Amino acid sequence: MVYHSAVWFLIALACVAPPAGEQPVEPVLPGEPAEPAEIVGPGAMPFRAPLPNVVVVIGAGVSGMTAAIEAADQGAKVVLLERESDVGGAAEGAQFMLFSGSPEEAAAGIVDSPAVLLEEWPSFTGGDVSDPWVQYFAYHNVPDVHDWLAERGVSWGPPFPDASGGTVARVHSIVGRGPALVDALYAHLPAGALRLGVEATGLQQDSDGRVIGVDWADVATGESGTVWARGVVVATGGFGWNLERVREARPELQDVVLTRASWKGADGNGLAMVEGIGGATKNIDAVGLYSHSSRCPLNPELEMLVPFLSMVPWVGMSGQRLVDETAVNDLRTSEKIVAAGGAAWMAFDLDAAFDDSLCGSESADAVYYSPDELVDLGFARRADNLTDLAAAIGVDADAFAATILDYNEATAGLHEDAYRDDMHGARPVIRAPMYAMPVAVSPAKMFGGVEVDLQGRVLAVDGHVIRGLYASGELTGMAGGSLVGDAGFTGSLSAVVLGGRVAGAHAATDPILSIYK
Ligand SMILES: Cc1cc2nc3c(=O)[nH]c(=O)nc-3n(C[C@H](O)[C@H](O)[C@H](O)COP(=O)(O)OP(=O)(O)OC[C@H]3O[C@@H](n4cnc5c(N)ncnc54)[C@H](O)[C@@H]3O)c2cc1C
Repeated sequence: MVYHSAVWFLIALACVAPPAGEQPVEPVLPGEPAEPAEIVGPGAMPFRAPLPNVVVVIGAGVSGMTAAIEAADQGAKVVLLERESDVGGAAEGAQFMLFSGSPEEAAAGIVDSPAVLLEEWPSFTGGDVSDPWVQYFAYHNVPDVHDWLAERGVSWGPPFPDASGGTVARVHSIVGRGPALVDALYAHLPAGALRLGVEATGLQQDSDGRVIGVDWADVATGESGTVWARGVVVATGGFGWNLERVREARPELQDVVLTRASWKGADGNGLAMVEGIGGATKNIDAVGLYSHSSRCPLNPELEMLVPFLSMVPWVGMSGQRLVDETAVNDLRTSEKIVAAGGAAWMAFDLDAAFDDSLCGSESADAVYYSPDELVDLGFARRADNLTDLAAAIGVDADAFAATILDYNEATAGLHEDAYRDDMHGARPVIRAPMYAMPVAVSPAKMFGGVEVDLQGRVLAVDGHVIRGLYASGELTGMAGGSLVGDAGFTGSLSAVVLGGRVAGAHAATDPILSIYK
């Protein structure tokens, strides 16, 4: 009885301490009892007092917004906390989604299906098809993501092939790119749910460990409080921006120069929150490392886009090439560079460098650099011959020269290339001056994270469910914690949406009265 009163006091507190934002939280919906009833369960074990029919979603990226929409559709009152002044998170820069068996594929005459996807899933993602989330994703990505989004105004162009989406042309480009997806979700958010500029700072648990609320702080005013809930969905994104956490997940990256390719919000704070109350992670070393850029002179922690990067040879510190330079969306490309010591240089001459490299976005803050400017700034090397270029980057001159000559012969069609199936567009390194520029290794997307079951419920390290706590999106390695093995896949936003729907629906219908004290 004392316990019941205490819980009800907490619920009452929520009424007087709403998060700052558009309107006060009304955690008790009409029809719920004003006072907790005396409820006795089987074996005369007392049940908990009912919690308000509120779902709190932390993070208004694609996954959190999806969870919020789904929870509201299931009848919950939703509070969506977003610490930024706008919604969308990482998806503002995104473009591609993966579907297997979509209407766009059918229209293009592409034969694809869940079974076809599952058959080749291990080969391009390294994932395990016996994982229930892999099965769930294969069978639900079209009806529960594609069709659900299409009903909300999202559309896609014709699918195209990409090695990191398997052998079938199933990567779909969103019409209007990531911002169109974000706008469509935003337009369908439950009225009054969104609290911009409000950060979740902690999770509240009851004496049995059930998560019953979220501590919040207004970023601008510092005002703070707690909102109580029957279900909490954490959808705070990945941890790619947090290089310390990346190196903790992948200790062998300790001495590798890492460049940030994620977005500043991917700081891993939600991961720490969930781990802090005993939540388990899965596949956490599946850090999505990409090699698709060099380092930016404006800020060497950030990427510089090199337009000719996949047209020229990349040479590791052994003086050998390491990868197919066109496979820039394939995480295994970076992994090969990491395995070979973590550094590689692209080599080129001015005939290959058809355009300048770019720091920043393609807008007013963009800064372009020619190869000579990059040399002057110390971000590239220049030499008049291969021997001197090898010395400038610290690799064996004979090995380097042999590698470049072999590559040049392949570009001329004299023999097959050992790394690239298709030499179309590949540019030789022939004319002085010759240049070398480092290939960046960049944590971009996380394919491992918080482990959740097929209801989106967070599992504890000992395997039990942490009641009341759900997670989705990149925080869960896109979905479930282990969709992939040692490689990612292009278009994982589909899994981010799917996980959001699952978590939102189950958080809204969490059987709060079925818990024994
Ligand atoms: C440049 C770029 C391009 C990409 N391109 C693609 C692509 O083409 N295809 C693809 O599939 N994927 C792509 N991705 C990855 C994809 O965008 C992300 O995996 C996805 O958007 C993650 O969504 P999310 O909702 O899980 O997390 P996020 O988008 O990171 O959203 C998390 C939200 O939570 C908020 N938040 C965090 N902590 C708190 C807190 N304590 N309190 C309140 N709010 C909090 C954040 O501000 C953010 O709004 C790309 C990523 C980047 C950076």
